[in-house]
This record gives sequence, structure tokens and C-alpha cells, in this order.
Amino acid sequence: MSVTIETIGVIGAGQMGNGIAHVAAVAGYSVKLIDVSQDALDKAVATITKNLDRQVKKEKISQEDRDKALGFIECSTEMAALKDADLVIEAATENEEVKKLIFKQVCDVVSADCLLASNTSSISITRLAASTDRPERFIGMHFMNPVPVMKLVELIRGIATDESTYQIIKEMTARLGKTSVSAEDFPAFIVNRILLPMINEAVYTLYEGVGSVNSIDTAMRLGANHPMGPLQLADFIGLDTCLAIMNVLHDGLADTKYRPCPLLVKYVEAGWLGRKTGRGFYDYSGDEPVPTR
Ligand code: NAD
Repeated sequence: MSVTIETIGVIGAGQMGNGIAHVAAVAGYSVKLIDVSQDALDKAVATITKNLDRQVKKEKISQEDRDKALGFIECSTEMAALKDADLVIEAATENEEVKKLIFKQVCDVVSADCLLASNTSSISITRLAASTDRPERFIGMHFMNPVPVMKLVELIRGIATDESTYQIIKEMTARLGKTSVSAEDFPAFIVNRILLPMINEAVYTLYEGVGSVNSIDTAMRLGANHPMGPLQLADFIGLDTCLAIMNVLHDGLADTKYRPCPLLVKYVEAGWLGRKTGRGFYDYSGDEPVPTR
């Protein structure tokens, strides 16, 4: 199979979709950004513009690159805008039925050669691929948040993904300035499989009274050289997201070592979801985050 990727469709203009559109446009790809919500598209363009301006200020890209990149992005609420895409990356809401429906709509408009990718954090790539007419041209591309800053993309082959699909996407990921790693299609792939049990263990450490929020985070920053403490990181990711990923590991691998900590469950039930709600393991209502335990 030889596919030259020139035009990339990105579906979902939320946190991840706008970042993927940003890096693809900076790399010189023509980008069609699709969302059901015009408001989400307007916000995405404002975010991309702000982030490109920041990169110009930091001298990471030139003013000319910024202008060119913005010129490469076209937004639409219609899937028909994807008809010339060589690759479509889906980054819509984390819901299997929504994603399957999107891929069905995409397959109806794109050419038979077009490659498909999903940025899902937890849904089986093999299952999503099987719902399309081209499982051999389907792959997982798991970008990290925030996409313009984070260097890694996990590439996940479904059982039917063929080698040329993997190689084309690997090269394209490198052109985005990212490093890829290959992960098999198991729950939470590599990064979240390792990171989330560590965060969950930090919550158990707090729950059992081994240390306070401050001692746990300071211990891991200074003792393990982590740039952020695990509880600070949990607040940044969102405690609901942390719990959802622990549930995916617990359900998918059926091992009690992935049991979500009851304190994490309680915080989520209380609506204390971290930074986004102003309170998690820290209280964000003042100038500086204050540990809550
Ligand atoms: P988000 O809620 O910020 O954005 C999702 C967007 O999808 C919304 O703008 C919504 O309007 C749009 N959407 C929903 N249904 C649609 C449809 N049928 N057609 C077109 N657009 C539709 O979510 P996000 O955080 O950007 O996550 C997107 C995907 O990326 C999820 O699969 C998530 O698991 C994955 N992911 C998230 C992170 C993260 O840290 N947030 C990291 C890696 C991967």
C-alpha cells in the first residue's frame, strides 16, 4: 500500500483535537477539523491561535510558520468536508457508540485508501477497527495532553492492522516532531497502565494515613525526581478521568491490584475532580494550591 498523507481530517475539536490539528498544521499538512458543535470549533481556533502565538513568542516557530499553519486549518460541522482526506484521526468524546457511528459516517465519505486512527485512551482498537470496512487500515494514535508540548504518541495496532499502515503512521508521527512507541492493544496501553496505578497507590497511601498530601507529593518529587507529585498530577488529569482509567484496568484485566482506591471514588462522588472544579487533593480557590489533607 502506498499512501502519501497530505490531508488529515481531525474529528472532535476539544482539548485533544485542537492540539492534534495544531501540530499537523505546523508540520505542513492540510487539516480539516470537524465537530458537531460550531461553538467547539470556534473555541478550538481561538485556542490554536493563542498557542501558536505563544510558540512565536518563545521563538519555537516563526511568525510566517504561524500564519501558514492557521491557513492550513479548515473547520466544518459536516463530515463531507473529509472527502479528500488521506488520514482521519478521531478525537471525539470517549464513548464507544459515538466513535463507531463517527467511523461509519467517515467511511461513507472518504476514499477506499484513506487511513483511520483513533485517539481513544481506553477503548479497544481491535473492536473499533472491526466496526469499519477497513480494519487493516485502522490504528490507535494516542497523543498526550497538551499535544503541542508532549513529545510522545503511542501507536496501537489492532489485531488486523497491517504493517504498511503502521509504517506510514510511524513516519507521519515523526514528521509531527513526535516520538512514537508501539503498544499492544491491551487496556490503557503503556503510559496509563503504569502511571495510573502509581497515582492510585498514592491515594491509598493518603487513605491509609501513611503520609499527608504534602509529604506524599514532596516525597515523590524529591525522592523519585518526578517533576510533579502524584496527587498534584491526579488533580491536573482530573480525578474522574483517573477513576475511569482505573476502572478500565480493573474490568479489562480482572486483577484486584487495579482496584480503585475508595478515597478516589469518594472524591469523585463529592464532585471534587481536581483543578477543573477548583478542588481535589488541593484547594485551588486562592493564589496558591493548598493541600486538603
Ligand atoms: P473533549 O470533551 O475536550 O472533546 C471532545 C469533542 O468531541 C467535543 O468538542 C465534542 O463536541 C466532539 N464530538 C462529540 N461527538 C462528536 C461527533 N459525533 N462528531 C464530531 N465531534 C464530536 O475531549 P478530549 O479530552 O479532547 O478527548 C477526546 C479523545 O481523546 C477521547 O477519546 C479521550 O479519551 C482521548 N484522550 C484524552 C486525553 C486527555 O488528557 N484529555 C489524553 C489522551 C487521549
